[in-house]
Amino acid sequence: MKFSTKAIHAGNEPEKQTGAVNVPIFATSTYADEAFGVSRGYDYGRTINPTRVALEKNLAALENGRYGFAFSSGMGATHAVTTLLEKGDHVIVSQNVYGGTYRIFERIFRKLGLDFTWVDTSKPDAITGALKPGTRMIFVETPTNPMLTLTDLKMISEFARTNKLISVCDNTFMSPYFQNPLDMGIDIVIHSTTKYINGHSDAIGGCVVTSNDKIAEQIKFIQNSVGAVPSPFDCYLVLRSTKTLALRMEKHNFNACKIAAELEKNYASKFRKIMYPGLASHPQHALAKEQMRGFGGMISIDLGSLENAVKFFNGLRIFSRAESLGGVESLVCHPVSMTHGAVPKEEREKFGLTDGLVRLSVGCEDYEDLIEDITNALKKL
Ligand SMILES: *Cc1c(COP(=O)(O)O)cnc(C)c1O
Repeated sequence: MKFSTKAIHAGNEPEKQTGAVNVPIFATSTYADEAFGVSRGYDYGRTINPTRVALEKNLAALENGRYGFAFSSGMGATHAVTTLLEKGDHVIVSQNVYGGTYRIFERIFRKLGLDFTWVDTSKPDAITGALKPGTRMIFVETPTNPMLTLTDLKMISEFARTNKLISVCDNTFMSPYFQNPLDMGIDIVIHSTTKYINGHSDAIGGCVVTSNDKIAEQIKFIQNSVGAVPSPFDCYLVLRSTKTLALRMEKHNFNACKIAAELEKNYASKFRKIMYPGLASHPQHALAKEQMRGFGGMISIDLGSLENAVKFFNGLRIFSRAESLGGVESLVCHPVSMTHGAVPKEEREKFGLTDGLVRLSVGCEDYEDLIEDITNALKKL
């Protein structure tokens, strides 16, 4: 089955009693047994919920995985995957991942005895150099947030196999519509479903997808033990949203391609650098075409100074000044003061995350209006 068919049907069988075409919101914390010791297969709401099961089947299908697990946030999903490890284990991580990932690794897991090395995972030499006897996992995000640097997922999965590491990819930026890391040999995919998968900026959520039986069993155990599970209502929202994921991603991608091309062609004097994997000028455009089916809706622009970033921000009318991304409405973010506040200045400047950098999450509005909004704001610089 192809993507949209799976998105609309996987996990979405009509409800048995009434034939309702949507999975009901099973608002229950517990389930009655039929008789003493005779369970209907459901015991407690943290452990299992039918709305969540439907969502988990749907998300697994979209990532071409055998097992899906829904979490109450993307960070909940990252937490679950990291707790697969033991005290003393070492992880190699992409250097400019989501700021919250940096925070949970350095501020929570390091004090519990895990060790992390941050490297440019787009460079094979850097990865090999980071390998230690205790390395157990390689965690990548591609494209990265907010620099939109790509990592070659086939290279990562080969490296992981050779060195017996668990490979993890945070696929939030591409969504399963444009990129499927499991197909390239990656062991575990993580999403913040808060972003493109839900797409309507009305729920926080996360997921883990894998085809590995042993990992799936452990994640299920962690999900139930830790309890970072989404509410049935939030599961319903996400399940409803994936039905239009393909339509939305096409539009995000179309709009972002139009905007990036226009800015590069006619407004290059207004900024220092534009980063979008769909531009031929992106240093990894060839890899983008190879491992992704589209380029997504995220564009980062280095406006040269904090002063310019502030002027640009305040000059926008349609783009809302907000954290997060992937919703139908266009958003603008200033990573240094917003999403990446937890990353120390010397760390972030190493990879180009400067005070003048702004990140656009291009929504599903009409691109002509978005271009007009951006160019009007650029004219104020
Ligand atoms: C937002 C985000 C997360 C964290 O997800 P939450 O749902 O906010 O907890 C992780 N990775 C990436 C790439 C993100 O954009």
